[in-house]
Amino acid sequence: MMNPRFQALQEIQTREWRAPMDKTRRPSEIFAENVFTKKRMKHYLSKEEYLALKECIEEGRTLDRKIADPVANAIKAWAMDRGATHYTHWFQPLTGRTAEKHDSFLNLSDDEAIDSFSGTELAQQEPDASSFPSGGLRRTFEARGYTAWDCSSPVFIYESDYGKTLCIPTIFVSYTGEALDFKIPLLKSMALIDKAAVGLVKIFEEDASRVVPTLGIEQEYFLIDRAYFNLRPDLILTGRTVFGQDPARGQQLDDHYFGSIPQRAFAFMNELERECHKVGIPLKTRHNEVAPSQFECAPQFEPLNVAVDHGMLVMDLIDRVAEKHNLAPLLHEKPFAGINGSGKHNNWSLMTDTGKNLLSPDVDPEGNLMFLSMFVTVIKAVHDYADVLRASIASAGNDHRLGANEAPPAIISVFVGSKLSKILDDIENPPRRKRNENVSDLMHLGIAEIPELLKDNTDRNRTSPFAFTGNKFEFRAVGSSANSSSAMTVLNAIVANTLTLFTKKVESKIKRGRKRDAAVLDVIKEFITESKSIRFEGDGYSEDWRKEAEKRGLSNAPKTAHALEAFLSKQAKEALVETGIFTQQELHARYEVLMENYLTKVKIEADMIRELSLTSVVPSATRYQGELIDILKNGKDAGLKKGALSAQTDLANEIGECIKDIWELNEQMAKTRSKLSKLGSIRDEGIGFSEKVLPYFDQIRAQVDKLEGLVPDECWPLPKYREMLFVH
Ligand code: ADP
Ligand code: MG
Repeated sequence: MMNPRFQALQEIQTREWRAPMDKTRRPSEIFAENVFTKKRMKHYLSKEEYLALKECIEEGRTLDRKIADPVANAIKAWAMDRGATHYTHWFQPLTGRTAEKHDSFLNLSDDEAIDSFSGTELAQQEPDASSFPSGGLRRTFEARGYTAWDCSSPVFIYESDYGKTLCIPTIFVSYTGEALDFKIPLLKSMALIDKAAVGLVKIFEEDASRVVPTLGIEQEYFLIDRAYFNLRPDLILTGRTVFGQDPARGQQLDDHYFGSIPQRAFAFMNELERECHKVGIPLKTRHNEVAPSQFECAPQFEPLNVAVDHGMLVMDLIDRVAEKHNLAPLLHEKPFAGINGSGKHNNWSLMTDTGKNLLSPDVDPEGNLMFLSMFVTVIKAVHDYADVLRASIASAGNDHRLGANEAPPAIISVFVGSKLSKILDDIENPPRRKRNENVSDLMHLGIAEIPELLKDNTDRNRTSPFAFTGNKFEFRAVGSSANSSSAMTVLNAIVANTLTLFTKKVESKIKRGRKRDAAVLDVIKEFITESKSIRFEGDGYSEDWRKEAEKRGLSNAPKTAHALEAFLSKQAKEALVETGIFTQQELHARYEVLMENYLTKVKIEADMIRELSLTSVVPSATRYQGELIDILKNGKDAGLKKGALSAQTDLANEIGECIKDIWELNEQMAKTRSKLSKLGSIRDEGIGFSEKVLPYFDQIRAQVDKLEGLVPDECWPLPKYREMLFVH
């Protein structure tokens, strides 16, 4: 029988490509055609109903009962006009991806089939919640949970070749009111930062009554051929390759980044963009990434909760569109060892309802003072709550990436660029004034010149986990498969808390008679001093930084099991419980869910490593070893000279050694696992697993990869790195 790898190669070479799509319609024509936009609301609703709905949307309230029925009717009419047959509440449980349960519009009334969709069905649904993680918040006998429409995120139609479904973005709560999803805390954190930022803006007498955080998510991913993917059980079940020898050519040539996009990927991207545009995701940028077969897409930024929903939808669409092109997308943070992993860069800022970006310096010096207040507050927030922020991005997948000398390290630090660094340093230790120099502090400290300084802000540092990029912060350590909610909830919360502290301090100084600008500068200076240790402009990948960070007292928790502990800390309580985002019980439950999720994932990996190594790798290697032994026997019989078969002897021995190691390591790993499973606490088991079991992963891998280099190509069962990464 032919090696399935070679069959896959044949399949790839002879397969027909998906036909090009209709190119006659411009993106702006297609954009949001499957979204129930304000324009469509106006069309399908009476004026009063429209205004009432608009108010709910803008104020982020749940749907008014009074208008629920007419709104449901309008949505149904629109959706059915577009060919939808079903509806679903679309939500974000703590499993990580989105969840949906479809119901048909079909109903029977007096034996007559009708289409119906009531206000209650729009506003609320009761999915059987018992199989979603809750961290012990619900015992199974009261497993009910319900979903409710988040009107601030628009209703849309999900289109596939086989049918269309109306999707209603919702929150997901238990009957006793605890959040079971990512969205509720996110929305609460947005309300919190709104209030805190409006407080700051008031000090500067800016006219703004609302502040919304904005988010633009850059999504990195790999694409490999589905024929190879199907031959890699590890990719199918764990999302990453647990074995695989470095190819002769990896990414050493650095020739992929921004290179011309391979045609097949280009075809995929075009279709992905079109599908995104239909559901109102403003996807804008596409390019190759650093690693071979790695790509990136990014939309134009949006209000944070919408951007998060869209981020989830982009992942979903990547999956579905790729399938049509016989491609398998890999959204895991580290699908290939030794090759760059993938992240989801979260570009974050704050925007007033008057359209002002609070992290963008202004033309007038006073505006710059407001900018600096905001800027310094974010840095101080990251400094004070670095561990909670680190915990917010922790996952089994991201552990492979953070601190692997190719992605931002697990040590949280902030990069601001040399020019702003100098300004911060000057504010902290003002340079001496020249004699007769009669200028204001704003001029003297260079604050007035900030916009000029940032004009050519080419100062980029790709090694920083949290970087200022001219008019926004970019949180780069978020995992590629993550729901950005978790990171963004924490970021909003810690900045809101620190902003409140900032305004309180300034106001109390003003009350005691200090002039406003002077009071603001005092507090800015105080914050700069207190948060200095988190600022780092150098190479975040270097060993020197690790040492330096330790000296500075910054935390470094490279593994999830340890990093998650921060959710149980005093800082987490301050930022997440005292601010009302979680109850203590909810936060604890979340810790449990995340730990359990981590543990489940690494256990699946451990099972996979055992199974693949023992049932796939070892048999292939043993067969080859058997052939060698036959050759040795025959050679002896044929009277070959002693030295003539010495290489084959060594090879058979070497293979035997590897097989023995793989066997023994698997046995030891199984014993260790069984001991840990008796610990009875999810925390102890998680930490134990990460300290005592994970090292076996690398040790077994080393032996398997060695075998890959010894066993003949035609006998090796698993698609190799060079095939998956370079064959298009
Ligand atoms: P790069 O790869 O150089 O970091 P990209 O152009 O790929 O930049 O992505 C930048 C992202 O930042 C885009 O999604 C963009 O819309 C987003 N962005 C720009 N301004 C803001 C802002 N004020 N708030 C949030 N996101 C922003
Ligand atoms: Mg970026």
